[in-house]
Amino acid sequence: MFALTKVKHAAAGVTRQCFSIRHVKEGRAVSRAFSCSEHGEESCTVENDVYDIIISGGGMVGTAMACSLGFDPNLQGRKILLLEAGPKKEMNKAPELFSTRVSSISPGSVTLLSGLGAWDHIANLRCKPYQKMQVWDACSDALITFDKENLQDDMAYIVENDVIVAALTKQLQTLSDQVEVQYRTKVVKYTWPRPYQMADSIPWVQVTLANGSTLQTRLLIGADGSNSMVRKKSGIPTVKWNYDQSAVVAVLHLSEPTENNVAWQRFLPTGPIAMLPLSDTHSSLVWSTGHQHAEELLQMDEESFVDAINNAFWNNENQSELVEAAGSLFRTALSILMPNGTSTRQLPPSVAGIGPKSRVMFPLGMGHASEYIRHRVALIGDAAHRVHPLAGQGANLGFGDVACLTRVLSQAAFNGKDIGDMQHLLEYETERQRHNLPMLTAIDLMKRLYSTNAPPMVLLRTFGLQATNALPPLKEQIIAYASK
Ligand SMILES: Cc1cc2nc3c(=O)[nH]c(=O)nc-3n(C[C@H](O)[C@H](O)[C@H](O)COP(=O)(O)OP(=O)(O)OC[C@H]3O[C@@H](n4cnc5c(N)ncnc54)[C@H](O)[C@@H]3O)c2cc1C
Repeated sequence: MFALTKVKHAAAGVTRQCFSIRHVKEGRAVSRAFSCSEHGEESCTVENDVYDIIISGGGMVGTAMACSLGFDPNLQGRKILLLEAGPKKEMNKAPELFSTRVSSISPGSVTLLSGLGAWDHIANLRCKPYQKMQVWDACSDALITFDKENLQDDMAYIVENDVIVAALTKQLQTLSDQVEVQYRTKVVKYTWPRPYQMADSIPWVQVTLANGSTLQTRLLIGADGSNSMVRKKSGIPTVKWNYDQSAVVAVLHLSEPTENNVAWQRFLPTGPIAMLPLSDTHSSLVWSTGHQHAEELLQMDEESFVDAINNAFWNNENQSELVEAAGSLFRTALSILMPNGTSTRQLPPSVAGIGPKSRVMFPLGMGHASEYIRHRVALIGDAAHRVHPLAGQGANLGFGDVACLTRVLSQAAFNGKDIGDMQHLLEYETERQRHNLPMLTAIDLMKRLYSTNAPPMVLLRTFGLQATNALPPLKEQIIAYASK
């Protein structure tokens, strides 16, 4: 079948048209252009096969990006493709066993996921709200508690990562006219646009798949995780280092059912240990510790592992008399100055067992791409930034990127601009780096501040934590910042 069609050129923000003959070959549109003075024949030949946006990587962040673009009214009719190396993750009901990979999802991320229609699915599948967080130091009596409006509102939600992806995937299915998705499809090569003046010019990003086919896109969004090939191959410089810690994660069975509405985190000299609520009877463990110790925790029999967890939350063997005395004096002074500003330490529920085969470990690191964008390229999620899990912020930062990039691209489309142009991508980069960088820095500083039991550092953080705990307006600011 042959058809004469107009082909649009949107380069340099100007839309021009030329004519091409289009015929359908083996179910796929193939074009051959003529009478084009703008870009030469090669660029026109592929025009009908050019995607407006290709998202590489369909984890939590990439799948949310695909949904968010698909639902945007200004991007209706655009060709959008999501490529994911792994299989499609579907879920009609929550599996019997909890998954080991969970995330604390902030109210800001809930707003995004609700707007995409995914939060209802998550709520129907499985998630656990919590109303309070207690963070305390194993080397002193210092602690800080966070809650919203005296336990009236939910602070955040613990959700299994697979549940988030499945809920977004369900929504993506309602967008099949709008967003194409290819699972089990790995990208093996990217070829970047080259200027028009060059003999071998390509105006778009070329994406080569493992099956040998090549796609073209006006904008490539790299959502391919912390080892991002998009980031590496585009030559974007990254500040990164590995921490001396790995995180051991596991599903915990509690000794007895409880309301379980508190997220607990204790800073041990070897790293933080966190217990996050999953249900009345289950919690999730995230224990960051030295690599060797993490290995040992993985190898232990279940009973020793459970003892190690209870011990890590309850014992006081790291406290020194000097720090205890100084901390107690400081706390007394604070309680006189601010009678409502102190909190009583509570102990987390005791652990009785762990889920079958639920122990896994992940090496930890920090990374930040010094640029989030290049011509026709944008990075989101862990591809742009990687943080220590101690603040439960990694995925939340990624969802913030999704909301911001959608807004910027929607506006560009509304104004008839070239979607891959640096001008509006710069807006995305500036806004997100202003938010993400201070968060990354604070998390890295916390990791360092708490990785020692040297008395001067312990005293410093003891006073800091107690003073912060005594200042509700400051705590509210911290909650508001972490909730975005
Ligand atoms: C122990 C631990 C606890 C955490 N807890 C929290 C928490 O409580 N709250 C929170 O907000 N964050 C938390 N995080 C961080 C969070 O898990 C990450 O920030 C989040 O998973 C990043 O999502 P992403 O989609 O950007 O990347 P990823 O999840 O890494 O997804 C990348 C996707 O890209 C695909 N991909 C990669 N390369 C290619 C390719 N070449 N072609 C096609 N597809 C490709 C992969 O298959 C994958 O699906 C935690 C992290 C850890 C390690």
